Amino acid sequence: MTDIIYMDNHATTPVAPEVLEAMMPYLTTHFGNAASMHPFGAAAKDAVEKARVQVATLLGCSPVEIIFTSGATESDNLAISGIATAHTRKNHIITSTAEHHAVLDTCHALEAEGFETTYLPVDKYGMVDPDDVEAAITPKTVLMSFMYANNEVGTINPISDIAAIAKKHGVLFHSDAVQGIGKLLSNMDELGLDLASLTAHKMYGPKGVGALYVRAGGYERHPPLQLHPLFYGGGQEMGVRPGTLNVAGIVGLGAACELCQDGVGGYRDREGSPTGMLRDRLYEKLRARLTDIHLNGHPVKRLPGNLNLCFEGVQSHSLLSGLKRVAVSTGSACDSESVKPSHVLTAMGVPDALAVTAVRFGLGRYNTAEEVDIVAEEVVAVVNRLRELSSGM
Ligand SMILES: *Cc1c(COP(=O)(O)O)cnc(C)c1O
Repeated sequence: MTDIIYMDNHATTPVAPEVLEAMMPYLTTHFGNAASMHPFGAAAKDAVEKARVQVATLLGCSPVEIIFTSGATESDNLAISGIATAHTRKNHIITSTAEHHAVLDTCHALEAEGFETTYLPVDKYGMVDPDDVEAAITPKTVLMSFMYANNEVGTINPISDIAAIAKKHGVLFHSDAVQGIGKLLSNMDELGLDLASLTAHKMYGPKGVGALYVRAGGYERHPPLQLHPLFYGGGQEMGVRPGTLNVAGIVGLGAACELCQDGVGGYRDREGSPTGMLRDRLYEKLRARLTDIHLNGHPVKRLPGNLNLCFEGVQSHSLLSGLKRVAVSTGSACDSESVKPSHVLTAMGVPDALAVTAVRFGLGRYNTAEEVDIVAEEVVAVVNRLRELSSGM
């Protein structure tokens, strides 16, 4: 596998060497349970609290506003179900059709319990319109949930504009911020979020650990945020998320949050960053040598590492089978077993025949210009070969 170039960083990222190094002691000598009273427990607890500060530093929030979870799927479930079921006088939730399944399926499950949900459309770039959000609010609206940046097409939602509307109407605002945190502005106050989901394995940390940011009281909200837990058990994480803490994983998440603050301007993967420049280089090379390719997602307001392209006339599964030197995705990783077009592309109005030709290149901090050139070379060759085959030449 070492000679295969990895360009699927929206599905998961490799664990950074610095992150692994920070985790190692907590998988070996410092194996204690953070809830134990003896020195093994104290060492584990200290490490968890240090990681909480590292996460809070990236988010510009207080450590008490961080709840550790098993990842973003759990964080999304906890945020949406937890708010909905704790605020029983209101029963309406607003989200969009381009959200991750962790959000969509949680909303569907709540509908079965009697909650009402509005799924707002997105524009041709996959972006939510703040005016639509404002128009959808009713006196029954308790929560809205819109992703920060889309995991398939990379489009960045106007989070702070939506937050201003949420605040004006006294509606809580959750964001699945997985793809934006550590790559784009990550300060919760500047974004105006009340709740935000993140996961370590999309930011060079380990799988199976994440966090939910929950704004502490104040912020003109009375009463302060109440969250109904998903699980019952010990009193960990203020009782909101009981269960023995994944100490090594949490240490890895903390180290990953610290790592992602590096680079000029704060974010290594930001627009105009090395990652953004490599992404542009790949697009330029493909555009120069292939006809009939279409960019999915917003041309500018898009994650720096994201390049989602439709190659007209070439089924994405055929293209992926032909590519021997690069690992990329069709649509989103979660949809890789099914041939139906991605719900995000459908929501953007991309016709089915074109949507099934979409390939997502997800560049990250370890990709190089040399790799981009090899990938461009191979994609051009395989697309040309498949197009020739289907035209009967
Ligand atoms: C990966 C991803 C998730 C799921 O995160 P897990 O930690 O794997 O559960 C949720 N939302 C978005 C936008 C993602 O990219």
